[in-house]
Amino acid sequence: MSASPHPLVLITPATHHVVIDLAYATPNNVAGQVIYARPLCLLHCDAEVCLRRAVALAADAGCRLKVFDAFRPHEAQVLLWDTAPDRAYVADPAIGSNHTRGTALDLTLVDGQGVELDMGSGFDDMTELSHHFNPAVSAQAQANRLLLLRTMEGAGFAHIPHEWWHYALPEPSRYPLLSSAGLGALNPMAPS
Ligand SMILES: [Zn+2]
Repeated sequence: MSASPHPLVLITPATHHVVIDLAYATPNNVAGQVIYARPLCLLHCDAEVCLRRAVALAADAGCRLKVFDAFRPHEAQVLLWDTAPDRAYVADPAIGSNHTRGTALDLTLVDGQGVELDMGSGFDDMTELSHHFNPAVSAQAQANRLLLLRTMEGAGFAHIPHEWWHYALPEPSRYPLLSSAGLGALNPMAPS
């Protein structure tokens, strides 16, 4: 038996009690096109452990996590970079995104009925409205963002200032960028 060629774990509603709505598996994203041929939600095994904690913390608040993106193949990062309306919000694929390490995910909270909490701006809204603690965001949306922040940081993730939906494991240099080679049918961009 050879060792697994990658550290990724498949995240599903059944195994992780999350809602999955991968933005890049539909044309409803900033690139305006389908990027993933397969709607696969994958995370590095270390991030998966933290996600399980976050799911439990969200449940304590009567919520579930809704995931928009997690592991992102390098080829997808190139596409997003090439089509980005504002490159301040996209990692240069030459440097690499933490999504390509499998250690980052984009997500929000939904209530007991599955309705997304008001976060004051949409996922991937690449404007200042998406910055944490922007005073132009309503008090309710600020509270909802703080609930997500507390949930994710309590579970071991770190936030970034410009995207309320993005969380990643700290110290990303501990994790290599993952090559798409070896992912096979687990590559979200592999033809289905
Ligand atoms: Zn992200």
